[in-house]
Amino acid sequence: MVRSVVIVGGGTAGWMTASYLKRAFADRLDVTLVESAQVSRIGVGEATFSTVRHFFDYLGLDERDWLPKCAGGYKLGIRFENWNKPGEHFYHPFERLRVVDGFSLADWWLLHGDRSQPFDRSCFITSALCEAKRAPRMMDGSLFATELDDDLGRSTLDEQRAQFPYAYHFDADKVAAYLAEYGVKRGIRHVVDNVEHVGQDQRGWISHVTTAEHGQIKGDLFIDCTGFRGMLINQTLGAAFESFEDVLPNNRAVALRVPRENSTDMAPYTTATAMTAGWMWTIPLFRRNGNGYVYSDRFISPEEAERELRQAVAPGRDDLEANHIRMRIGRNRESWVKNCVAIGLSSAFVEPLESTGIFFVQHAVEQLVKHFPDERFDSAQTDAYNKRIAHAIDGVKEFLVLHYKSARREDSPYWKEAKLRAMPDGLAERLALAESRLLCDETIYPKYHGFESYSWNAMNLGLGRVPREPQPALKLMDPTAALAEFARIEAEGKALVDALPSCYEYLAGIND
Ligand code: FAD
Repeated sequence: MVRSVVIVGGGTAGWMTASYLKRAFADRLDVTLVESAQVSRIGVGEATFSTVRHFFDYLGLDERDWLPKCAGGYKLGIRFENWNKPGEHFYHPFERLRVVDGFSLADWWLLHGDRSQPFDRSCFITSALCEAKRAPRMMDGSLFATELDDDLGRSTLDEQRAQFPYAYHFDADKVAAYLAEYGVKRGIRHVVDNVEHVGQDQRGWISHVTTAEHGQIKGDLFIDCTGFRGMLINQTLGAAFESFEDVLPNNRAVALRVPRENSTDMAPYTTATAMTAGWMWTIPLFRRNGNGYVYSDRFISPEEAERELRQAVAPGRDDLEANHIRMRIGRNRESWVKNCVAIGLSSAFVEPLESTGIFFVQHAVEQLVKHFPDERFDSAQTDAYNKRIAHAIDGVKEFLVLHYKSARREDSPYWKEAKLRAMPDGLAERLALAESRLLCDETIYPKYHGFESYSWNAMNLGLGRVPREPQPALKLMDPTAALAEFARIEAEGKALVDALPSCYEYLAGIND
């Protein structure tokens, strides 16, 4: 049996992996986490995907406990600003499209929708809640979508049936600390030390890591959570890394932590604002915003990017320290090599648009549990794991490239080049299809990657890639039910805006 796991790295990936494995295997598996006090965490990664709820449920953690301790906030979706032209915005919410008489409401919208307002306002309730900065819960704690307010208990991504309506924003360092406390209480051995050498046996498998002060640490399975450096998987085992920079050229970011002047003005969404050479995130935490400019250094220098960012979000606050980050965009050809599995930035990263880094960690650790090896390290398990991981990443890669291809903005060399850049195989075909009809489960990236067809359509329609014609069948159908559904969305949105507390008000209540 594999009895001991050694995780190197104590960022979000390391602690999520350690706590998840401990929850899954309890005392039947020894888990040691080694993290360096000298090498700092990446310090970003504060917006999530709605499926992260399954992670916290699996660990048995209650949002009302962990969220306030992690300076957390709610995320009902992403607000895309200026991706078409300055002053315009739309939402990509965590909300599936309703279906009327077998056709999605977006199909009906193409024929009968109110074209005087953006697609998302007509087809999703969430847009109204975002505009009014509402919390997704009433002051008594009940969820606005009552049918989804069940206690999932110990759940995983594979058990996801419905689209849960929100994700979280949180302070990445506080989440790591919270999970560390959770894990250490349950028996994780926590070693704060620098790994200086990775030992290999005659077959080249990892036998131990050597630390500066705690000597050798041996294990059966090693998890590389050392971030972009990939100390075990790349530096030691030489795993090949496939860059995505040909299709996703943003290779740098600069981040700022900005105190919110009016802390009560708290948005329940991430904002992604298009900039001259990339885009900027705004992530509202309970008392501050996380901001960052993601860009390609072929189009803007780090100094200029920092200047543009400061001007946009923190004019006059030269005291705030900027965190400049070089990003490794792409994935390991295989994230599991021999007895080493890379999870987190050491495995893959596809730039922060759509906030998928933590989702990849969650997906990887769930898949690791499902494919957990015994002492034979059967290659069928490893291969199956590697395929699942690669598909999830490649699907997200396609979805992100769509954002740049569909955006109408063309007012700088960066945005002009975006239209001319290469595309992953398959996406060109999907985008050509989207000119004549909406995408569906059969025509989006075919393997699990966390995004459903409604997301692909929400982005295409929001960015202005609208099918030339509605579905011909709809012209022969009675639209009464669809029109009633549009009216219902508007009325439900208004009623919820009246009934729900503001995002800040609700969070202040659970922060007491
Ligand atoms: P890190 O945080 O870099 O941690 C590496 C760990 O390894 C540290 O603890 C370090 O001490 C340790 N270490 C390194 N070398 C050694 C050694 N020799 N010995 C011992 N320990 C060592 N994801 C999202 O989901 N949402 C977002 O909004 C988002 N935004 C992002 C924005 C940017 C600009 C970037 C770059 C990433 C973003 N991500 C986001 C991704 C997210 O930040 C990561 O997926 C997540 O933080 C996990 O990082 P990590 O733990 O793999 O690496």
